Amino acid sequence: ATPTALLVGTGRGARMGVIISGPDVLERARSVRAIALDKTGTVTTGELRVVGTVPAAGIADAELLRWAGTAESGSEHPLAQAIVAAASEGGLGVLDAFENVPGEGVRTRVDGVDVAVSRPDAVAALPAALAEAVDASQGRGETAVVVVRAGRPVGVIALADTVKPTSREAVAHLKELGLTPVLITGDNERAARAVAADVGIDRVLADVRPDGKVAAIRDLQAEVGQVAMVGDGVNDAAALAASDLGIAMGSGTDAAKEAAGIVVMRPDLMLVVDAVRLSRATLRTIR
Ligand code: ADP
Ligand code: MG
Repeated sequence: ATPTALLVGTGRGARMGVIISGPDVLERARSVRAIALDKTGTVTTGELRVVGTVPAAGIADAELLRWAGTAESGSEHPLAQAIVAAASEGGLGVLDAFENVPGEGVRTRVDGVDVAVSRPDAVAALPAALAEAVDASQGRGETAVVVVRAGRPVGVIALADTVKPTSREAVAHLKELGLTPVLITGDNERAARAVAADVGIDRVLADVRPDGKVAAIRDLQAEVGQVAMVGDGVNDAAALAASDLGIAMGSGTDAAKEAAGIVVMRPDLMLVVDAVRLSRATLRTIR
């Protein structure tokens, strides 16, 4: 490999908005077989919005939103931002003892009472009405979270995300380039399947815990060989580093960008397609 060709490739990448951390990255991109795509913020906009609230008996929607919104005001998760935005109109309470539980939710005290907001499968003994609300919401491809106050489940909040306009086209191009796309997410299986179907991805790894993303990459590597990973979140950093080619969205967290070999400057999967094409074109020049 001539260093000159690699430098030229790196320079061309920069002009396209594809920032390549070093010449070796282009060489690694050559033999990638599968590409794992994080769902939220990578395939979707990650700009979630609250689309429904189902309080338990005797609780008002506004109360439910106030507890959840206050609890989530300590978190930067896209789910949290959406819940805070929905709750803000009614005003927030006093938050203390905030604890973030990665891949699960938050545990806090709101106005002196314990409040947790979590993924539904982390909540024991969900009353039938709330379990049905979770089921219906997930059936629509949404993400449902459960609010627990003083040890009692007090309601469900349903959130929806939007697929980015270029994701479908980009997935088609990645397939044409011979890469198998795999959607990887901590979100529920049905929400993940809905997004995957929308953009043309057949393989889905859902309900993956933050530390499970690395294991998922290693399993894929054992199965197909070299694997690229595209992500944006703090949760994605270890998986980006474990992959053979980590690609971070420029809109993402610093942790993701530091762990990646390539950073794409616009949050657009078409730039990931450009990055793969560039690496192949550069290496053709060399050989
Ligand atoms: P993703 O891989 O989609 O970015 P995460 O690993 O961050 O997902 O989260 C997985 C799941 O954990 C979410 O779908 C949600 O159910 C739950 N969760 C994570 N963070 C929060 C939070 N701040 N509030 C409520 N639920 C959360
Ligand atoms: Mg993400």
